[in-house]
Amino acid sequence: MKRVFTLLLVVGLILVGCGGQKTSNTLSVGTSADFPPLESIDENGNFVGFDIDLMNAIAKQMGYTVKWENSDFAGLVASVQTGKYDAVISGMTITASRQEEVDFSDPYFRSDQAVVVQNSNTTIKSQADLADKKIGVQLGTTGEMLARKLVNANGKVFTYDSPDQAFLDLNTGRLDAVVNDLPVSSYFLEKNSNLPLHIAFDIPTDEYYGIAVKKGNTDLVTKINKALAELKSDGEYAKLYKSWFGQEPPTQ
Ligand code: GLN
Repeated sequence: MKRVFTLLLVVGLILVGCGGQKTSNTLSVGTSADFPPLESIDENGNFVGFDIDLMNAIAKQMGYTVKWENSDFAGLVASVQTGKYDAVISGMTITASRQEEVDFSDPYFRSDQAVVVQNSNTTIKSQADLADKKIGVQLGTTGEMLARKLVNANGKVFTYDSPDQAFLDLNTGRLDAVVNDLPVSSYFLEKNSNLPLHIAFDIPTDEYYGIAVKKGNTDLVTKINKALAELKSDGEYAKLYKSWFGQEPPTQ
């Protein structure tokens, strides 16, 4: 009887061990899948986009598979901090204030901001023209921080969970402008060319996207950076960039 028990215990421990190993080869990655062509969910419910392909390739290089998790952009940093997700990739700009809360990989993408207005708008031509306007932004983004700096007491910033919601309110005239990352804004306008909206001008913020991990998780950052460097040198990064943006990545 005692032997049987010991045998069962050993088998049990092996099973638990295998299970544990399986989860440790899975990386849970959070993203706000409302930011095409970087991340969105297609009609079949799959996560798609440049960030998705890049993170899948990074994980593969590391011997991991990704378990994708969708979340509002504004909640992503906290979810990495609490360990809900191992990492976040979400067109997230590396900023000094976020660096106080999470650690970032090496930058993998450069971006600016764009100011989108209605085609009929002839008054918004420069940043100063936004001071007294109603500006839509995605909550918790660098676009929001910038818009708050641009408005004065007569202007107002309206926050949305996703950039699309802001664009739709711009279309109906509830907003005068939307401030949002340039590649995502251009993509939205291209895909919704029936909407009478256009980019009035860019704001060259020179932002760099990074993959966020829990503060102090240097092991994971090192592995991600190594994989990213390999994907850059073997041409895989350029291939992915070209497939989503239709051009060669900029040389940095
Ligand atoms: N790059 C912007 C930021 O980091 C917007 C990101 C996003 O909306 N996914 O705040």
